[in-house]
Amino acid sequence: MQNIRLDAGAAALLARLHGAGYAAYAVGGCVRDSLLGRTPQDWDLCTSARPEQVLALFGEGQCIPTGLQHGTVTIKYGGQLYETTTFRTEGAYTDGRHPDEVHFVPDVRQDLARRDFTINAMAYNDAEGLIDPFGGQQDLQQGILRAVGDPATRFEEDALRILRLYRFAARFGFAIDPPTGQAARALCAHLDCVSVERIEEELSKLLAAPAPAAYLDEKILKVIIPELSAPALQAAKPVVDACPAGTEDLPVRWAALLMSLGEDGTRKVLKRLRCSNACIEQTAVLVREAFAAPGQDAAPDTAIRIRKLLGRYDLHTVQRLAALGAAMEPEQAADFAAQAELAAQLDADGVCCRVSQLAVNGRDLMAAGIPAGPGLRRTLEALLDAVVRGQLLNERQCLLDAAGQISAS
Ligand code: ATP
Ligand code: MG
Repeated sequence: MQNIRLDAGAAALLARLHGAGYAAYAVGGCVRDSLLGRTPQDWDLCTSARPEQVLALFGEGQCIPTGLQHGTVTIKYGGQLYETTTFRTEGAYTDGRHPDEVHFVPDVRQDLARRDFTINAMAYNDAEGLIDPFGGQQDLQQGILRAVGDPATRFEEDALRILRLYRFAARFGFAIDPPTGQAARALCAHLDCVSVERIEEELSKLLAAPAPAAYLDEKILKVIIPELSAPALQAAKPVVDACPAGTEDLPVRWAALLMSLGEDGTRKVLKRLRCSNACIEQTAVLVREAFAAPGQDAAPDTAIRIRKLLGRYDLHTVQRLAALGAAMEPEQAADFAAQAELAAQLDADGVCCRVSQLAVNGRDLMAAGIPAGPGLRRTLEALLDAVVRGQLLNERQCLLDAAGQISAS
């Protein structure tokens, strides 16, 4: 296991808090990621100082009062933001999602006990080293996601943790501690307490993991996407894993998962989950076009098909379509990769795929005597089709000659 090297800002803020007599640590994801040898995205701090004491120590100008009643102040330092939360325990969770009240406490160990998983329940500072009351470091070493305390109680408190369990396990490729997994599945009906926005956030993060299929639990998915039948989920799993990982290509993973629902069904699910419009549109295009998958086309027409797609969609979409095709038909993966490469080449070379790339425009055609109106647009599209099919050169005189014939016919 790696040693923890605090980032400069976190170290400076901890030193300042210690100097003022408070206990303070880096906590949660940054400690976990450091121990894994990964670079933390952000450094969260926890401290015995109350929010108003943090504000007084750093000055209100340097702080954002993120959630004072929950003890959270965000400190701006060196161009970065550090979420700093007072050690706290949480009261009852009557809504299955949020604590009714929080209590500030003096001891970091009490604060760690309210956290979700052992690997997320560690704190660190240079003076005391690692504070790890629940065996988080050992679970990291063994690759296990385990709830802090009694799993059923923890999932009953906050059902969002059920999805976080699969999300973190998928991110790191960890196994799920059996009692923790059993409790998550047994209590998955409680997910109805969780807002769709949070469900979408967790599911998207899960889907962006390197190989999420093993973590797409049938019982859990049935609660959050009831439209997806168990056989359809089983069939989608290998396709999902074969798609590119990462948030950038998330629509490809969504398309792989929801493909069986068709374009309309896919839109309906993503809309209900309140995915962004961009994500919904991109996923819908992939689902729609994947049914006309290129692999089934005759090989000589590949370039035509790719040019037609580039006429309708941007390069990234066409490449995602190829990635989805390869995931759906792994034995043709090389063909799809070649198609993606061809699309990039055509795009880089500025090869004509759209009316706007023709060597003539509507005004040229009118000047050549073709009347304005819908016929003009149809003539331009016929010219494009002929150019894309390689029947006509994209040169001004060729196009003008052909336009005369097309519009006369
Ligand atoms: P990421 O890299 O995804 O941000 P993270 O561990 O920082 O991972 P956050 O959601 O940012 O995850 O939460 C920060 C910390 O707060 C967690 O590590 C965990 O200790 C605690 N935490 C967050 N959400 C919950 C929750 N719902 N229940 C209990 N503890 C939680
Ligand atoms: Mg975080």
